[in-house]
Amino acid sequence: MVVRAPSALAEQVRKWREQRLSIAMVPTMGALHAGHLSLLHLAQQKADRVVVSIFINPMQFSAGEDFERYPRREEEDLIMLREHGASLAYLPGADAMYPKGFQTTVYVKELTGILCGASRPGHFDGVATVVTKLLLQALPDIAVFGEKDYQQLLVIRRLVRDLDIPVSVVGAPLIREPDGLAMSSRNRYLSKEERQTAPRLFATLNKAAEGVLSGRIAPEEVTAWGRAQLRQEGFGEVDYFDLRDAETLHCVSELNRSARLLAAVHLGKTRLLDNVAIAP
Ligand code: AMP
Repeated sequence: MVVRAPSALAEQVRKWREQRLSIAMVPTMGALHAGHLSLLHLAQQKADRVVVSIFINPMQFSAGEDFERYPRREEEDLIMLREHGASLAYLPGADAMYPKGFQTTVYVKELTGILCGASRPGHFDGVATVVTKLLLQALPDIAVFGEKDYQQLLVIRRLVRDLDIPVSVVGAPLIREPDGLAMSSRNRYLSKEERQTAPRLFATLNKAAEGVLSGRIAPEEVTAWGRAQLRQEGFGEVDYFDLRDAETLHCVSELNRSARLLAAVHLGKTRLLDNVAIAP
């Protein structure tokens, strides 16, 4: 089933509630791949009905970013969702999400100015606002987000807690191509040559993680090490290559708690994101 109006979504959710069915939501921007499908499958294990939303949220792109050229694959996406048993695809229009006069922003203070928030100012305000709206429109029991966008997952956990949104947020593991490249809708932008370079981001994160765990690379040195390595591997500008606390995203100088090594790097016209867990 495909619905586009928030009222139609609410009506369907109400019917499911009457039948005492549990509901999960998987928000996406479409151009679906196996990473998105893994979220759908996890949601299906956890709830009776799954709503997958597809909305390319203009509010999370700044001027000069790839909003216009972001891949739009509605027909293929809907076929995939049907084949994989999504109960409902929710595709709201931009006017339904941001009607004339719209002026409210959800702002999560500390988590949003660093890492991707530093290189994409305002990005997480757009994410936090649209996710809040989607969750309030569907009011699911659970919502599933990928660890691919690790900082985004933490921002959403925070806002759900802070705003008492009655939804439990589930994080899902990052799904990779066989050569290690993190799956992403934006990987379609890569040229053949760039596609060969791209998996070296994951390889570099792994090497850095091993280096830190074995004591060969000090936590304070991992950023410089990673930046130099990525340059050597043929990547362009490195937005960040940082070791952070897995929960607070504070900088880490000692490995005594779960940490995450996170990176964003440019390759041609594509910005690649990836991260790996580091458990002490
Ligand atoms: P997007 O369509 O890129 O906004 O992503 C929608 C959701 O899918 C987000 O929760 C992402 O973190 C998640 N996602 C995207 N790519 C992957 C991946 N390779 N593995 C796991 N989750 C992913």
